[in-house]
Amino acid sequence: MAIVRLALPVATHRLFDYWLPSGLDVQPGSVLLARLGNKKLAGVAMELIASSEVEPERLQPIDQLASWIPPLPEDLRALARFVSEYYQQPIGQCLALMLPPLSAARSSPCVAPASHADARLRSLNGEQRAALDSILGDTHAFAVSLLQGVTGSGKTEVYLAAAARMIAEDRQVLLLAPEINLTPQLSERIAAALPHAATVVLHSRLSDGDRRAHWLAAASGGAQLIVGTRLSVFTPLPKLGLIVVDEEHDESFKQQDGVRYHARDLAIYRARLRDVPVILGSATPSLESYAKAKRGRYRWLKLPQRATLRTALPPVRLVANRIAGSVEGIGSELARAIGERLSRREQTLIFINRRGFAPSLLCAGCGWKAECTRCASSMVLHREAARLCCHHCGRVTTIPAACPDCGNQDLLPLGFGTQRLERGIAALYPNARIVRVDRDSTRRKGSFDSMREAIAAGDVDIMIGTQMLAKGHDFPRLTLVGVLGADNSLYSAEYRATERLFALLEQVAGRAGRGACAGEVIIQTDFPDHPLYVALSAHDYDRFAATLLAERQELKLPPFSHLALLRAEAKLPRALSDFLEQAAERGRELSSRHGNRCEVFPPTPATMPRRAGLERAQVLVQSLNRRSLQEFLQQWRAELDRLQERRVRWDLDVDPLSFA
Ligand code: ADP
Ligand code: ZN
Ligand code: ZN
Repeated sequence: MAIVRLALPVATHRLFDYWLPSGLDVQPGSVLLARLGNKKLAGVAMELIASSEVEPERLQPIDQLASWIPPLPEDLRALARFVSEYYQQPIGQCLALMLPPLSAARSSPCVAPASHADARLRSLNGEQRAALDSILGDTHAFAVSLLQGVTGSGKTEVYLAAAARMIAEDRQVLLLAPEINLTPQLSERIAAALPHAATVVLHSRLSDGDRRAHWLAAASGGAQLIVGTRLSVFTPLPKLGLIVVDEEHDESFKQQDGVRYHARDLAIYRARLRDVPVILGSATPSLESYAKAKRGRYRWLKLPQRATLRTALPPVRLVANRIAGSVEGIGSELARAIGERLSRREQTLIFINRRGFAPSLLCAGCGWKAECTRCASSMVLHREAARLCCHHCGRVTTIPAACPDCGNQDLLPLGFGTQRLERGIAALYPNARIVRVDRDSTRRKGSFDSMREAIAAGDVDIMIGTQMLAKGHDFPRLTLVGVLGADNSLYSAEYRATERLFALLEQVAGRAGRGACAGEVIIQTDFPDHPLYVALSAHDYDRFAATLLAERQELKLPPFSHLALLRAEAKLPRALSDFLEQAAERGRELSSRHGNRCEVFPPTPATMPRRAGLERAQVLVQSLNRRSLQEFLQQWRAELDRLQERRVRWDLDVDPLSFA
């Protein structure tokens, strides 16, 4: 009897044996439908075997072969095994990430029709050409190139030129980008630069039918350029020749629940499996990549200037935050600069990374603050909907007419959000055309697109927006960027907060002066001497990275050590602390048996210690050696599985980006 060993998408690390009815053409990687209990699941054949430890009469048959899905190739199965081992996740769940939607309605044409337009590839400047030559030196060998180039230095042109060369050799290119659904400009540029390439996009907002069609086009080798978000790192690509990770520092490449993986790191692993080059591009590389480039593990390619001479990087001015004469948070210097732009018919972007009217509501009498009953956080005041909203669990309440504690009717909005700024700016510039871009104002489908079009057409004078407007947009008339509220992240408990803030501000700053007119950035701050702002003013990421690296080395934080976090949550605080105490105790024993190469810290509350009614805490494990940490985690996970604590939900986060 032929038996197949199947990986099923369930929360266990073991595989399941089934017998194969005759006539099914099954091979390793085949997608099979089988029954587990009373559920019908799609799994992946890992192995065909002659006999099983399961008694023959207890073996179940395979229901069906999903013959319309080509078998997952060996490199993807190897990648799944790596994800499973490295991130401590069940193999079947890792493989499930690699499959297309199984059943789907008929889909639209899968590959962008090749256009007859002429390719609009620019001729590269000297630095771009040098970078390209270095990247494509040997296209059949694994090598990582870190392309560090300021915003507008022409990184995208280098990606496109490299892609064109690979496509001409009949090889496939995978381009990973953060949030491509928010930045259609990338797709538009690809279409213009590579009109003859068969291109597909892959991201989670596509319909199931489109996702499946695009997946099949990639898997058949028909799609030449695959542009996608983090999940597309798992697409079968028989002719893979190059992987590009654009904005490699962006945290959206890390999946934060379920199977927690980092798509940039997996892109590198996959390139190694396939012996192809990989490009990591960023103006502000992650410190992990930066440190590797510095040590010579990656090729370090730099584009220090903007590609065209007439658009220098915008000067950055730091101005005082709390000054007399500021109206609704807008200081006089920023106000004057906005006025100048209005009279020259140029555009202004005011960036504040907080949506809503005000981050909280305060009683002037007794100091009561509106807080979420289910989370350790304030309720955010929203004026448009006249509601208090929790941005963590989604709880919504009406705005109280008086303080619930003392009855005082004098309730004050505390701090600023996009809605409040919009109102302030409208009062300051009654004739200006203003648009607010945040998650609330773009909820309706297509609304973000029409806002972008209005901005590009020059029908908007002032944009007020969150980070939705920070990335990848190219508005030629935009010459002033004002930044408010950035100080909030300077002294955060999260050790990556300033690295993240610098990247975000450099990206926002990069929106200014991309057209014919010079740009300017004005940042309102109480800490103009902070190293972050000093380096940002000079657009000098190398200087800031040196500061950060020194700090991390001192504290033995990544990239100078490796971390894993056991995250747990429970209704009962007691159950949670019991579980984590036990977990930490087992961890310490385990580590001491293996020469104490991993340090297991005592349980601590998460940065957000309560969310959606659950208590949250964690145990941090740190090691100077990645392999030691990996060996430790595998054994520790097995012990945690045996603790069988049903009242606690837990999972392991390897290389965590935050302690939130
Ligand atoms: P980045 O990806 O580094 O932000 P882009 O590739 O978007 O930079 O380039 C910024 C601008 O400069 C774009 O408008 C692009 O068309 C233009 N550009 C890039 N390289 C060249 C070049 N070699 N010659 C002329 N213009 C260029
Ligand atoms: Zn009160
Ligand atoms: Zn809440």
